[in-house]
Amino acid sequence: MPLESVCDGPNPAINELLDQVLLVDHHVHSIISGRIDAAAFVGLLSESDRPAAARAAGWDSQLGFAVRRWCAPLFGLERHATREAYLEHRLPMTNEAAAGVLLPAAGLDELLVDTGYRPDRLVDVDRLGRLSGARVRTIVRLESVAEDVARSGVGAAAYAQTFRDALEVAMTTSVGWKSVIAYRHGLDFDPTPPSDSEVATAAGAWLRAIEATGTVRLTDPVLLRFGLWEGARTGRPVQVHVGFGDTDLDLYRADPALMTDFLRATEAVCPVMLLHTYPFQRNAGYLAQMFGHVYLDVGLAVNHTGAASDLIIRESLELAPLPKVLFSSDAWALPELHLLGSVLFRRGLSRAVGAWVAAGDWSLADARRVIEGIASGNATRVYGLRPVS
Ligand SMILES: [Zn+2]
Repeated sequence: MPLESVCDGPNPAINELLDQVLLVDHHVHSIISGRIDAAAFVGLLSESDRPAAARAAGWDSQLGFAVRRWCAPLFGLERHATREAYLEHRLPMTNEAAAGVLLPAAGLDELLVDTGYRPDRLVDVDRLGRLSGARVRTIVRLESVAEDVARSGVGAAAYAQTFRDALEVAMTTSVGWKSVIAYRHGLDFDPTPPSDSEVATAAGAWLRAIEATGTVRLTDPVLLRFGLWEGARTGRPVQVHVGFGDTDLDLYRADPALMTDFLRATEAVCPVMLLHTYPFQRNAGYLAQMFGHVYLDVGLAVNHTGAASDLIIRESLELAPLPKVLFSSDAWALPELHLLGSVLFRRGLSRAVGAWVAAGDWSLADARRVIEGIASGNATRVYGLRPVS
């Protein structure tokens, strides 16, 4: 990557490889369009949607320190520039202009962009790809498809088929599905697929509630399960939000071990991608070992744990078969997060893998193969990505 060397692990060959290797980010979002103010910027350094919580954490967090350490030099400021100096330089820029500086330095080859969260505020995926110098593909949120179907004026009896038809259309322009059932219900959901008559009854109740309240937000457990199963039945990878999220989420219901029965039921159906997983990365690694179709990443947590993220990356490489671990940033809104997702991941992986090579526990050849898989090969294989010429 056209950036100072970021990797500082104990093996120089591993550091060099991880400084250079291009990444496929299998779970990422776009950036907010236009300018942002200081309050919004600090708010985006926290996953909490509570302004008071974000203000209280302020810049004094691992992520805040990482922004000043790694992003400031790319804007010509010194390492660890003060937050005031950083904002003085950064806030007059549009987010797109900042992205033009930060994203090319992230060394990204391909982005699988989740388009389901606040698309109205974000730059479109093609622009994100141009700013990054990377190919882009999209991942479609199953709950967003359901909400679009509900808004279309469909009747309850036609809901199931209309949803299936909508997935078929979405498949022509995307490479996988994402579910936020952890937010909308919890991962302790009934693992069986609902019947079409159960779906029609649940859809009737939901459509009546929409008419009464004007709010379209899918939380019905039958329809959430229906969407998840329909996505799974396409055979495409289904990404499931796991662990750390925001205040909508009950963390204790976002442990992937709670969906073990669903994983048993989908073994021959589709790949299941456990996203983020923190603080359940060890549970996710266990599940990836038990079930051939389960994969994981530690995106999001890497950014938010900054200089401590090497321990989380290391834990993700304990039980999980190594071809089942993927890179993701889960960056959203600020291009700083796209850059840091890359820098911190490279650095943390260089420390973990470099130590095993330096100790003689891993051969250099094995380490190279594992790193190339995590960086891009594993995602390319699972999502069936082909180079776009
Ligand atoms: Zn995400």
